[in-house]
Amino acid sequence: MNTRTLYVSDMDGTLLGADSCVSERSRRIISDLTEQGALITVATARTPATVQPLLAGVEMAPPAVVMTGAALWTRRGARGSFSRVMLGIRMLERYGVEWNGMATVNSLNAEYPEEFYNFFKSIGCRYLQFTPIVERLQPDGHLAHAATGGTVTPESVTPGQWGEFLCRVYDLWMREDVGNGFVQLFDSTLARWGGETPGVCTLAPECGHAGAIEHDGDLYSCDHFVFDDYKLGNIREATIAGMMNSPRQREFGAMKRASLPPECLQCRFSWICNGECPKNRFVLSSTGRADLNYLCEGYRRFFSHVAADMDFMAARLRAGFPPADIMKLKKNP
Ligand code: SF4
Ligand code: SF4
Repeated sequence: MNTRTLYVSDMDGTLLGADSCVSERSRRIISDLTEQGALITVATARTPATVQPLLAGVEMAPPAVVMTGAALWTRRGARGSFSRVMLGIRMLERYGVEWNGMATVNSLNAEYPEEFYNFFKSIGCRYLQFTPIVERLQPDGHLAHAATGGTVTPESVTPGQWGEFLCRVYDLWMREDVGNGFVQLFDSTLARWGGETPGVCTLAPECGHAGAIEHDGDLYSCDHFVFDDYKLGNIREATIAGMMNSPRQREFGAMKRASLPPECLQCRFSWICNGECPKNRFVLSSTGRADLNYLCEGYRRFFSHVAADMDFMAARLRAGFPPADIMKLKKNP
């Protein structure tokens, strides 16, 4: 039988130093051992209210025994995914593995663009992707997809929030991080401005290269279209290459361009935006069809905001200079 040892420490007079704090060295040792799978916790007469600030930054897997054994206490959020993700990041860094951050932007965190971006910088994230949360629910409680109606959920980012978020993060990135921190949408916008293929499918003219496979082997046209109508088949019956090159998938890919509404066709940013992701096209356009992108207002605002800078950086790239020069220009106009 496998057994594991649980290490329990008192706090006062033991884990806490003369200054009644957990030293940085102790924090690091406990967190590192926890990361490696050790079971470490504390048992104390203290209440959760006084334990919580003292254990800030100390990663421990088991709950703390508090109030002389009358209760168990787990740091708020410690059982959620946040602390496990942070432990995972630390482990990747320990072994020299580079990692990228993919952050969803919703109606709540969109209100804190600078804080959100700076958080990722503070944990050493150099490659960051923002994904707008746009969800619709049908009356039966199921998620809606492009071909169906539904109501936008309160958690979804609004078009105005999305534009404001992108512009404010962009301004911060432009002042401090061009050439050192990489935000996928900004890099893809610059690539597109310079006539290159964007690194993000949402700005590409067509879809079709981002299939999604489920645990049971079912393959779908895209991870945003995991619905029956978009199932290409199962890997037990067909090859992935065959399904991804099938007429059905090619039709799915071409649909992005073919279904653009007049607003997009006449838009001055259509060459770069391409109507963004078809998943988000459900707002009524001038045709009376639900085919205009819900986030359109946000993208228009963002592209207008960055146009002059993109002109400059794309020209610098064409001339063989780093686009990061723009930061000097911004500091000394
Ligand atoms: S549907 Fe959206 S996420 Fe999927 S490939 Fe097209 S643009 Fe990308
Ligand atoms: S900004 Fe709006 S109108 Fe212009 S291409 Fe994008 S979604 Fe269409």
